[in-house]
Amino acid sequence: MGFEKFGMKSFTSDAKVAPFIDHLEQGRIMTTKCRECGKVFFPPKADCPRCLTSNVEWVEINGNGTLLTYTVVNYGPSGFENDTPYILGIAEFEEGVKILGRVSKEINPRDINVGMKIKLVPVKLANGQVIYEMKI
Ligand SMILES: [Zn+2]
Repeated sequence: MGFEKFGMKSFTSDAKVAPFIDHLEQGRIMTTKCRECGKVFFPPKADCPRCLTSNVEWVEINGNGTLLTYTVVNYGPSGFENDTPYILGIAEFEEGVKILGRVSKEINPRDINVGMKIKLVPVKLANGQVIYEMKI
């Protein structure tokens, strides 16, 4: 158990990669790296999709990334209707993974540019849920 703590809305209560949530609560964004082929995946996967081994290890995403693209979400899906508008971005991180995530509302949308340096940071919400966001 533990995965129900993830996200503004959580749809999953358990997963083989539930330690992701413990790490997030402790302020670290961790994911898995295959010990066989060396590929890093995000979100974390208990089994390597490339070579199908379960021989994976946890590695930390250090948070330094480059924003590749973003979009303003004006009509949110179920559970997010009252949080619009918000910005979703895809950034590539030094570990070689591309991550889809929310861009912090602390950043003025006019200051967001493709190619900008961005950090991935854990965030604890007032209701106890944990998420990660992109911040400057
Ligand atoms: Zn592999």
